[in-house]
Amino acid sequence: MSLPFKIAGVTGWPVAHSRSPLIHNYWLAKYGIKGAYGLFPVKPGDLEAAIKGMVALGIVGSNVTIPHKVDAMKLMDHVDPLAKRMGAINTIVVTPDGELQGFNNDGYGYIQSLKDANPHWSATTGPICVLGAGGAARAIVLSLLDQGAKEIRLMNRTKGKAEALQQEFSLDGPNQGAVQVYSWNERHEALDGASLLVNTTNQGMHGQPDLEIELDRLPLAAMVSDAIYIPLETPLLKAAGARGHVTVSGLGMLLNQARPAFKAWFGVLPEITPELRQMIIATL
Ligand code: NAP
Repeated sequence: MSLPFKIAGVTGWPVAHSRSPLIHNYWLAKYGIKGAYGLFPVKPGDLEAAIKGMVALGIVGSNVTIPHKVDAMKLMDHVDPLAKRMGAINTIVVTPDGELQGFNNDGYGYIQSLKDANPHWSATTGPICVLGAGGAARAIVLSLLDQGAKEIRLMNRTKGKAEALQQEFSLDGPNQGAVQVYSWNERHEALDGASLLVNTTNQGMHGQPDLEIELDRLPLAAMVSDAIYIPLETPLLKAAGARGHVTVSGLGMLLNQARPAFKAWFGVLPEITPELRQMIIATL
């Protein structure tokens, strides 16, 4: 009996820029798996029909990207507890009996990207500064807390969004008090004594202004990471590299979040090879 041909994809609007097809189709070819990964451009009003359609069509699953990460979660039969805490999903798995399962692997991808850059990295080394309080920040802050971070200094242009995140993640329970909100204007001083700086805003992304931040107070032992991967080296990472910091781009997060999804759909935990990395970099 021949193995079934499996289809997965990425659901978003717009979605044409996504690098996910390159990643998953590379792995399908590398591991000799019969299948394909495509783009599913789905307008906001069409999300429910599209997701139900996946079950009807026998599609094995999908990544979920902007603007559907929150709404798609509500359409799942089962949501992984971590994704529930994040309040959004980035991966749908359709089980063979047609159940829709939602996961969020963004935080896993981010933490893994730090460990790839420094296998000894620990969230407990010292204070962590996080810039931004949007979707990427939610996944990153929660994962850092789950890794044992004791002090996260959170700064966002709109302070209320940072405070809401603080309320949700560290008002009580084991992480009580671990997230501290600073005002956006305090971001330069807040770097004092930090062990990690993370940019989760869109500032520095292709087409956006550079992130404005003075790194003078940041200890040289601190790592500097950016969720952005277009460009691969943002102005922040360039400035940090010139000062001698270990820097981590958003590409590692993107590649690492794809691994558990591929495993869930196609049964193999794939490797991030230098060839794959180069292939994606060539398109950025
Ligand atoms: P989002 O939910 O729209 O959040 C955007 C963030 O940027 C908010 O905190 C926003 O602050 C801030 N921001 C926007 N304009 C700003 C400005 N002029 N000055 C200061 N802050 C500003 O977006 P997201 O989904 O979190 O994505 C954020 C970035 O992460 C994007 O560049 C995205 O490509 C990247 N990302 C990467 C990966 C990966 O796998 N590497 C995954 C997800 C996202 P306000 O709240 O004040 O508006």
